[in-house]
Amino acid sequence: MTKVRELIKIDPELCTGCERCKDVCPVNAIFGKKGEPHRVESSRCVFCGQCVQTCSGYSSVLDEPETPRADKLRERGMFESTTEPLFAAYCAGDALEVAAALKTDKFSMVQCAPSVRVAIGEDFGMPAGSLTPGKMAAALRRIGFSRVYDTNFAADLTIMEEGHELLARISTDATLPMFTSCCPAWVRFMEQHYSDLLPHLSSCKSPQQMSGALFKTYGADIDGKAREEIYSVAVMPCTCKKYESARPEMSMDGYRDVDAVITTRELAYLIREAGIDFTSLPDEDFDRPLGTYTGAGNIFGVTGGVMEAALRTAYELVSGEPVPDTDLLFVRGGEGTRTAFITIEDKTFKVAVVAGLKYVAPLLEKVRAGEADVDFVEVMCCPSGCISGGGQPKVLLPTERDEVYMCRRKSIYSHDKDSKIRKSHENPDVQKAYADFLGEPLGHTSHKLLHTTYTKRDI
Ligand code: SF4
Ligand code: SF4
Repeated sequence: MTKVRELIKIDPELCTGCERCKDVCPVNAIFGKKGEPHRVESSRCVFCGQCVQTCSGYSSVLDEPETPRADKLRERGMFESTTEPLFAAYCAGDALEVAAALKTDKFSMVQCAPSVRVAIGEDFGMPAGSLTPGKMAAALRRIGFSRVYDTNFAADLTIMEEGHELLARISTDATLPMFTSCCPAWVRFMEQHYSDLLPHLSSCKSPQQMSGALFKTYGADIDGKAREEIYSVAVMPCTCKKYESARPEMSMDGYRDVDAVITTRELAYLIREAGIDFTSLPDEDFDRPLGTYTGAGNIFGVTGGVMEAALRTAYELVSGEPVPDTDLLFVRGGEGTRTAFITIEDKTFKVAVVAGLKYVAPLLEKVRAGEADVDFVEVMCCPSGCISGGGQPKVLLPTERDEVYMCRRKSIYSHDKDSKIRKSHENPDVQKAYADFLGEPLGHTSHKLLHTTYTKRDI
């Protein structure tokens, strides 16, 4: 497991001191003088990886850096065969660990986040935003995973738990506004800077952790395996997900929910190392039941997606009527903050979506002062949500970044639009999981497996 405190690093041999990383860091965790090597202060860092995405100082395969390239690759957790440039700012990786584990007799279960499938094709020369869930599932099977599941299943499950939590808070006059808790960088920021407001965070684990918790219980039972036989891997667009999986709270009865997290880029390394021609792969389905998902689960990958998925379900749970329009365009958008009103029966709720951690402080100050007139808030650290996460294929030219993110976003929404089922509560395998194993949302088993607690953290 990657050491949490050293997750995001800057290689002083490769850093030119250009300061592009400082411009994108939402928490001022990067220090150094212009023109000199910079460094990351890990205690301040929220591990979002935006500095990794933007860094321009690099060494190509033809360069001869002071420290041999092979040593640098090992330090970064990359395969020796990797020929891509090594950038100064990087995230310590886990692809070597996962490759080694897949050679053991562990029963491996993997999950893929929604925004991986709209970006990984770029690492194999496909156009920006290429939608490749079927090829990804096929690649993961050929790499050697025993079960190929999908984080989107647990995104639907998150909506069931979070939706019921919100409705319970509203009906009992409990702490409001409620903030979503799917983005671990945002959760870490709250724990560091606004620990007095932690009761406002939803107690739901993120979809990554809900999936992992189910792999080692419900999933293990389905396959007739013991907990200790399961090796649980997550493929994520986000560097901070490595930190989240290592949190001590993210385990049950001594079993970690998720044993290893690899980013989209690391999955591409694994696919290349296995000699797989990604672009020629046939489309294959994810395994059931923990790989079944709706359009609502898929839109978790973009800013506003968790909110939209939650509102589709909350509307129908409260009113008992179909939501008038499944496409809730008023919560969609890009970087920054947007608010909207939604009326369900005779009650109007105010919701807010914040994309980019640097925009959240004014709202939190209002909450602190008791002046926030909002009921439910989604916060994502990265500018366009997970599609722009720190572990996604790197967009080398800053001028192309918006265009690439727009292509990925369009693919996420078209995947939703083309889904036969577009509301989380209609996912048949989520319904079956409640009937066969979980009981009811917010019930005893759900509470034990799918919810968590938060802690004040010093900087
Ligand atoms: S990972 Fe994010 S928070 Fe940490 S130094 Fe880089 S940009 Fe700043
Ligand atoms: S962007 Fe990269 S090269 Fe520039 S200062 Fe930051 S770490 Fe160094």
